[in-house]
Amino acid sequence: MGTFVDELSRELRPPLTAEAAAVEADRCLECGGAHAPAPCVVECPANIDVPRFVGAIAAGDPASAARTIFAENVLGGTCSRVCPVEVLCQRDCVLIHEGRAPIEIGALQRYATDWAYRNGVPLRAAAPPNGKSVAVIGAGPAGLAAAGELAARGYAVTVYDERAEIGGLVRYAIAPYRQTNEPLPDEARLLAELGVEFRLGTSVGSARLDELISEVDAIVLAVGMGEDLDVAYDGDDLDGVWESLPFIAKLKTGEPPTVGERVAVVGGGNTAVDVAVEAKRLGAEVSLLLYRRTELEMPAYEHEVELARDEGVEIRFLTSPVAFVGRDHVEGVRCAEMRLGTPDESGRRRPEPVPDSEFVIPVDTVVKAIGQRPRDEFRALLSDIDKDGRTRNPKIFAAGDAVSGGASVVRAVAEAKRAVSALEESLRWTE
Ligand code: SF4
Repeated sequence: MGTFVDELSRELRPPLTAEAAAVEADRCLECGGAHAPAPCVVECPANIDVPRFVGAIAAGDPASAARTIFAENVLGGTCSRVCPVEVLCQRDCVLIHEGRAPIEIGALQRYATDWAYRNGVPLRAAAPPNGKSVAVIGAGPAGLAAAGELAARGYAVTVYDERAEIGGLVRYAIAPYRQTNEPLPDEARLLAELGVEFRLGTSVGSARLDELISEVDAIVLAVGMGEDLDVAYDGDDLDGVWESLPFIAKLKTGEPPTVGERVAVVGGGNTAVDVAVEAKRLGAEVSLLLYRRTELEMPAYEHEVELARDEGVEIRFLTSPVAFVGRDHVEGVRCAEMRLGTPDESGRRRPEPVPDSEFVIPVDTVVKAIGQRPRDEFRALLSDIDKDGRTRNPKIFAAGDAVSGGASVVRAVAEAKRAVSALEESLRWTE
């Protein structure tokens, strides 16, 4: 019987044993070749050579498998835990066309990277120093991936982050059942071995950015998103009303927030789904997701929604909060029933309240998981970026959620790789 904290962190994708990994890897057909890459590789934003690393596991060589993974993705350990493989590589595995289960690529990647961390396999060999320096602003997934790629190519890299620890959203905003703080310490150690320097607890605003531009050859801006979107409701200040980021941050400290028997989570994205699952695991009898559109428009991944339902989360569609009610502590969410009107700028049909439809759902805890704000301080720079991360300033490149508005870790890695290529090309031109 596990402890309460064990239950909160019970993993979505538990590790495979060596035997299970060998059996699973052995099922892989190792598709593709020089002229036609395997469909799983085409679907991997980080371009990992899946058949090669899976084949190495089948051959009993996890070190070689890990090196294949790290060659394309220095955050291969994190991605093995949090990648939405169900809608990427595993979705296109050819075995599905034969009526068989897809290869468990995420689980095998975790097996190989865990093995490499445990056994001290070097992440990547670093090229000799090339005499150029790059400052990376932000130690979240895009910043760490850019730093690793640059250091491996011989750049002197310094990563700045205002927080005391690396990881960005992986450390502070991904729910623990998806990823605890492992393997971030290993990833940090391996990046440090590549020569990456970290200046943590160091905020870089626009004034410091201007200074840095004259001190280094290039800058990668990977500042991520800001705080929770500021959607105000009457009753926001009642006890028991949370924003999603502080709620998840508390979960990750191992001192989880206290929730009541009935929890309402406002939102329809992956963070809202995560919070609703964790609320259930925290002991809520009812964990209710309130989403103002229908399931068709829900931004959360379909497989995550299914998983949340399996964990006992209830979802109420076409329901929008109007206010949180109670004396000192929240006692209910006053909601309006919604209906869908004409499409808005996002292309999704705009929800409108049904007249005279308000009703109150009794709750003891509310978590608002509506989304995050873009970072204000670099708004001008980040509002004009090409597909490879070039900004209007030829020395500054951007990657990650600050550019894409909140995507997955592996997309941040892919963007970081594109920004690093653009940066290298630009420095070659200025030589
Ligand atoms: Fe293996 Fe499936 Fe990829 Fe083919 S598509 S290489 S079977 S994981």
